[in-house]
Amino acid sequence: MLQQTLFIIKVLAYGISSLLSDVYRLAVLRAKYLHYRITPWKGKGDDDEGEEVRNIVVVDASFAGYSAARVLAKSLPYLPGNRGRYRVVVVEPHSHFHFTWVLPRFCVVPDHEHKAFIPYGGFLRGVPPDFVRWVAGRAVGASRDAVQISGSSGETIPYAFLIVATGSGISGGDENESNENESKNNSLPSRVDADGKKEGIRQLKDMQQRIRGAENLVIVGGGAAGVELATDAKGQYPDKKVVLVHSRDAVMHRFGARLQAAAMDGLRQLGVDVITGERLVGHDTESGLVTLKSGRQVECDVLIKCTGQRPASHLIADLSPSSVLATGQVRVKSTMQIADDEFPNVYACGDVAETGTPNPNARSADRQAAIAADNVLSAIQGKAPSREYIPNFMDGVIKLTLGLEKSVGYARDGDSELLLRSKEKDLALMSRQAWWRFGAKAFEDDVEGDAVGSKDPA
Ligand SMILES: Cc1cc2nc3c(=O)[nH]c(=O)nc-3n(C[C@H](O)[C@H](O)[C@H](O)COP(=O)(O)OP(=O)(O)OC[C@H]3O[C@@H](n4cnc5c(N)ncnc54)[C@H](O)[C@@H]3O)c2cc1C
Repeated sequence: MLQQTLFIIKVLAYGISSLLSDVYRLAVLRAKYLHYRITPWKGKGDDDEGEEVRNIVVVDASFAGYSAARVLAKSLPYLPGNRGRYRVVVVEPHSHFHFTWVLPRFCVVPDHEHKAFIPYGGFLRGVPPDFVRWVAGRAVGASRDAVQISGSSGETIPYAFLIVATGSGISGGDENESNENESKNNSLPSRVDADGKKEGIRQLKDMQQRIRGAENLVIVGGGAAGVELATDAKGQYPDKKVVLVHSRDAVMHRFGARLQAAAMDGLRQLGVDVITGERLVGHDTESGLVTLKSGRQVECDVLIKCTGQRPASHLIADLSPSSVLATGQVRVKSTMQIADDEFPNVYACGDVAETGTPNPNARSADRQAAIAADNVLSAIQGKAPSREYIPNFMDGVIKLTLGLEKSVGYARDGDSELLLRSKEKDLALMSRQAWWRFGAKAFEDDVEGDAVGSKDPA
């Protein structure tokens, strides 16, 4: 009991201190920005006659990249002596920010799909155009001093600093298990495999239709995405048979015993059939059966895999193969520079980086991004990068939905665990707050186009 109370105090203390530090950071940023606005600027080139603009290339604009870009873009205008010498170049193929947290829900519940696609731009509002450039494209290669972009432009963008925050994607899974039916949209419910919003919405609707039409739904993978999808599917369609297959002895095995037990309770209360300690080895669509490693067969007309996410680290693999671990994650120093002294100007953060965070998530991605960006700002001013990312237990806090009406919040620090149960009232979960957080008005969007980056968001 005492241990539990101390843990709650620790969580509250962390919450208050991070709120205060956010408010402080915002206030400093606002003050500096105001100063910048009222200080007459003679124009680009006056301070740095003849100097070329140098790029800080941020590869992607998701939780990590977008945050890094914001810190940089909002700081560069008032960095002593900068005045246009450095600018941020954001490279992102998606036309909208993909809000991953709601994807399992929107794979099941109709009419909210559009809320998963947040228009870009609001987060960088107020940044003078000289300090940010948005490139709607995919970075396909990196050399010591430039990044290669795919697509018709085929542009090569030189960089002085590079921040890689490419996250993770679906590795393609096990060839033995794939067939034509499954290969469609097989990145859902963890990621949307589409650059444009219309195609993303189509994929979500397609998944909803598949689940709606299923009699025997089999979901493979008992991590957060699998548990949320299974409980939502059973909550929405109580008469369907929903089976969750997981290779470990407990679902949510990366977390502590209390969350594992709560997830298992939630699944069982809704009537999801959970099979642990088993692997999928085959799926015969004609007979409508999946085969598990033990030889057991389970009826299945729709199979959804929630496994196989892999870090998208190919850019760093090009540049510094020794910095990429067998898991695909990028080895980084605590300053978020990649662990290769030949490239002090290259950083990695978010899901793509191995940082020692027990359960990488958007919160840790955001913290790491701010540190990477701050260190780049120091380096620009000729100082050694000194801010360090030290994993904190609060980085691993998770909210897990267990059907349409319940969720649990969970934190763990060593042996101490905290689990809070709550009722869910909003089917769209935290979409509204996410739109607000990223500077967009819920749920207004004038960037409906399907083309990649149909509008320059910055
Ligand atoms: C179903 C689900 C629910 C989740 N729920 C939560 C939650 O409740 N709370 C929480 O904190 N976390 C949650 N997470 C985890 C969180 O979404 C991730 O930790 C977070 O997305 C990591 O952010 P990131 O920026 O590192 O990478 P990602 O979000 O994976 O983004 C990578 C970005 O890189 C871009 N990209 C990739 N390759 C290239 C390239 N070559 N060139 C240019 N751009 C590229 C992509 O377009 C994408 O925008 C959840 C994850 C999932 C899948």
